[in-house]
Amino acid sequence: MVKDSSTQQLIKRISVNWSQLKMKYSSDQEYPDLSQHNNHMAKVLTPEIYESLRDKETPSGFTVDDVIQTGIDNPGHPFIMTVGCVAGDEETYEVFKELLDPVIEDRHGGYKPSDQHKTDLNPDNLQGGDDLDPDYVLSSRVRTGRSIRGFCLPPHCSRGERRAIENLSLESLDMLDGDLKGKYYALKNMSEEEQQQLIDDHFLFDKPVSPLLLASGMARDWPDGRGIWHNDNKTFLVWVNEEDHLRVISMQKGGNMKEVFNRFCTGLTKIEGLFKERSHEFMWNEHLGYVLTCPSNLGTGLRAGVHVKLPNVSKHDKFGDILKRLRLQKRGTGGVDTAAVGGVFDISNADRLGFSEVELVQMVVDGVNLLVDMEKKLEAGESIDDIIPEQK
Ligand code: ADP
Ligand code: MG
Repeated sequence: MVKDSSTQQLIKRISVNWSQLKMKYSSDQEYPDLSQHNNHMAKVLTPEIYESLRDKETPSGFTVDDVIQTGIDNPGHPFIMTVGCVAGDEETYEVFKELLDPVIEDRHGGYKPSDQHKTDLNPDNLQGGDDLDPDYVLSSRVRTGRSIRGFCLPPHCSRGERRAIENLSLESLDMLDGDLKGKYYALKNMSEEEQQQLIDDHFLFDKPVSPLLLASGMARDWPDGRGIWHNDNKTFLVWVNEEDHLRVISMQKGGNMKEVFNRFCTGLTKIEGLFKERSHEFMWNEHLGYVLTCPSNLGTGLRAGVHVKLPNVSKHDKFGDILKRLRLQKRGTGGVDTAAVGGVFDISNADRLGFSEVELVQMVVDGVNLLVDMEKKLEAGESIDDIIPEQK
């Protein structure tokens, strides 16, 4: 064997990466201060777990410090319990499972490492849902995320990868026809006013103002590679390179969740086919379902929700408890970082993993029907005690 020449030694030294340099310090010296924190990561992480993971990295170079940075920089959130960690690639969930398995278990109601996820994108299996009362339900929406196998996820992808994802998405989406036929609007070609109008109309993701998005690295190079594709009447939309490679959304005014879900399933299945024709599949496995950037979205990635008027129910002292029993969550109508205004809420399924797409939309349909019944009773001055549901 030839001994290392000094040049080889130098090359070795400069190619030592950051994750190895920090090994100069002890695990204790590196351990984050989580004393003020309330997120799933901070609940789960221990000095022992950190020590065993801190010198590991995924094939694309994502480390445990990259996984947890957003949760360190964002101790809590005023409206929701955040996860406090992100994935940088598909392998993140495997390499760092010592941390991520318990986070997933904690976030997804006891979902175990041995559990198997189920997918059901057949809209015929949904019971009812075409007649949520439009006097109360202002709009209905279903969204999910999809990641393209072989590319790093938004917290970790390079500019070139991000642009490649954008190009690939355009090629595929361009092939959609009929009701789904649409166009792509790159963020960088949009005026400030056009962007703001789409945000105000609830069609487009917010600007990267959320500290959750910023601290995870997902907003790097903004607006490069980002955009929105939508059909002419804006009932089927795809966000490109926001929190996930793709966010697929079906929405419309009023309470016909059945129609929204039908369009969602049809469009999504077509998009998956178009990517496959181009030799690209979505990240998926039997345990985690669809693999996405935020562990809270694993499984179906599905959030089915309505904007619904609940001025009375929302003042009831059991409101929080009722939502929990129905396995629903509330947000403000301006998105995850907003509070409700004037008694109008975004009510959606709380779960993503361990239930199929159809089961989750069913929970929303049944739950929202019950909430609207409650609202009507309270409006009429009646009690709702006899229709408070059992825990689902
Ligand atoms: P997500 O990330 O789950 O798509 P956000 O809470 O970040 O949802 O909201 C994204 C955008 O979608 C916001 O502008 C929000 O107002 C809009 N939106 C969410 N649900 C509905 C709904 N049922 N009807 C109309 N707009 C909605
Ligand atoms: Mg969002």
